Amino acid sequence: MPVGKEPKLGLLIDAIREGIPATKARLREWYDTCRDEPILFWHTPAIRYMTYGIVAIVGALTISWFADLWAPNVEVKDQATTTDHRVICTNDECTKMFVIDRPFGFDDFPVTCPKCSKETGQSAHRCNSKSCNGRWVIRRAQDERYACPHCSADLGPVD
Ligand SMILES: [Zn+2]
Ligand SMILES: [Zn+2]
Repeated sequence: MPVGKEPKLGLLIDAIREGIPATKARLREWYDTCRDEPILFWHTPAIRYMTYGIVAIVGALTISWFADLWAPNVEVKDQATTTDHRVICTNDECTKMFVIDRPFGFDDFPVTCPKCSKETGQSAHRCNSKSCNGRWVIRRAQDERYACPHCSADLGPVD
């Protein structure tokens, strides 16, 4: 049976115990040599490859950081800049309700109604009172507040 194929635990520990001082001595020797001739430090393959590795990682991180900085951010570019606005036509013969796609905070009413072609489309708001139950209404300004034209519920301050 060849020695070392199945090393006994004791033998293994002995080997490590003997190996540690030897390794320490070799490291010490290497350190002393490098101190005398610093260029040898660079000639140690382990040090050299470790340095290459660190340089590669730092390089990759730097590149990705710059790429993030300058490349157009797709998510931001595709972010919605407009939203749906519910509109009700105030022409008594029409009263069509429709939706327009305009920037957030759009307030340039009235807009043209697609059914009667009159400029009578006003911004619609939901009234959540018990009687209206989420009905879309045209708010009516009353002093400093808006009110529902159907149930007179308060619909927020006039801005
Ligand atoms: Zn209309
Ligand atoms: Zn109401």
